[in-house]
Amino acid sequence: MKNMNCSKIICIGQNYPAHAREMDLPSSSNPVIFLKPPSSLITDGEVIEAPAELGRVDYEVELALIIGKRAKHISEKDALSYISMVATFNDITARDVQANARDSGHPWTFSKGLDTFAPMSVPVELSSVGDIHDLDLELCVNGKLRQHGNTADMLFSPEKLVAYISTYMTLEEGDIIATGTPEGVSGLNDGDFVEASISGVGKVSNHVKRI
Ligand code: MG
Repeated sequence: MKNMNCSKIICIGQNYPAHAREMDLPSSSNPVIFLKPPSSLITDGEVIEAPAELGRVDYEVELALIIGKRAKHISEKDALSYISMVATFNDITARDVQANARDSGHPWTFSKGLDTFAPMSVPVELSSVGDIHDLDLELCVNGKLRQHGNTADMLFSPEKLVAYISTYMTLEEGDIIATGTPEGVSGLNDGDFVEASISGVGKVSNHVKRI
């Protein structure tokens, strides 16, 4: 993705209870945090390249928050003023690789960080979007609805996430927080067409190539 000044993509795991249940994961009292490299970003119309030898590769529709100014030790009350834009994000995941890493106690960075594994729509101003605590998320594969959720179901709100993360990691202008996915994840096949959308925010559509 061009013209994005992004030092890091911070992703939140298990932020929707129904998705944590479908993955058979225990609940966590703090946000589950991992990173994707900015090199994984692509935009609408680019191709998701999923290496065949890595096994199952999943989609995950998520609301992305884009940081507008440096944030360190930000309170929940002030957090929204540090989010300048939002976008629709698809947290592509090499699920078998992730599961193997989890089982062996290894980091699962690799399963999340491949080139093309972070499709994101063109960001829009936060002020142009309705209440970010009540946005419908949808994901379709080949025109069939696979995920449908609402940001109201997040365990940790955008404000809580900015406050928690900025206590420990400085957020820079252009950094992205991917806020987790609702239930309904499954694998992608060669030739699939994936459309992730959020009401009032935008849509990112990508073909899948198993390479
Ligand atoms: Mg995710």
